[in-house]
Amino acid sequence: MAEKKKIVLLGAGYGGVLTAKKLAKKFKKDENVSITLIDKNPYHTMLTELHEVAAARVPENAVRIELEKIFAGRKVNLVMDHINDIDFDKNVLNGDNGKYDYDYLVLGTGSKPAFFGCKGAKENSLTLWSFEDAVKIKHHITDSFIKASSEKDAEKRKKLLTFITIGCGFTGVEMAGELGEWVKRLCEDYAIDRKDVKLYIVDLLPK
Ligand SMILES: Cc1cc2nc3c(=O)[nH]c(=O)nc-3n(C[C@H](O)[C@H](O)[C@H](O)COP(=O)(O)OP(=O)(O)OC[C@H]3O[C@@H](n4cnc5c(N)ncnc54)[C@H](O)[C@@H]3O)c2cc1C
Repeated sequence: MAEKKKIVLLGAGYGGVLTAKKLAKKFKKDENVSITLIDKNPYHTMLTELHEVAAARVPENAVRIELEKIFAGRKVNLVMDHINDIDFDKNVLNGDNGKYDYDYLVLGTGSKPAFFGCKGAKENSLTLWSFEDAVKIKHHITDSFIKASSEKDAEKRKKLLTFITIGCGFTGVEMAGELGEWVKRLCEDYAIDRKDVKLYIVDLLPK
């Protein structure tokens, strides 16, 4: 019998999940192929919906799908581990919990937010790029309204109620739009005059 070929996919994002599903279908009856999907989380995050969690429109778990559920009955081994480096000469992935060798490797580890050299942006802003980011933004905004509701100092109150979204791409526009809706509810919940809340969206382009 031919030696088993190991296909390893790193990253269960949109790319990794779809590729693993297609490969599982293609090699369904092939005993000589194993497919392993590694991710640091036990779930897939629907990044495209993060703004809905960040602005409290949907519950937090609405943007996470358990990998066990997605791959139930499919020929895909699931591994939860954080991979720290890859030895491309020896075909080995090194993770916190183990080493994983492969014959074929598919990399789908996503990307990082970019700040385009805008000084201070990284240090002073919150990014919307992961499940944790979305939850952090939601708590930060809620917290700002709670603090503003008992703040007597007009300047401090103004700061707490001024929100700036940087970037008029899909994510920025969707986030600012969600915030516009959510703010109406927050004002009611924390007895704040809507006129006191300032929302801005900033971009270098006019449209
Ligand atoms: C807020 C937001 C809104 C978006 N809206 C849209 C949209 O409307 N339309 C659109 O087409 N695109 C949109 N995008 C872009 C889209 O989400 C990305 O292009 C897509 O997620 C990229 O898929 P991916 O599989 O390459 O990576 P990701 O989906 O980022 O997945 C990467 C996976 O790799 C895992 N991983 C990373 N490093 C490691 C490691 N070292 N060890 C183990 N696991 C690791 C992560 O846990 C993650 O599960 C949006 C993105 C964001 C952030």
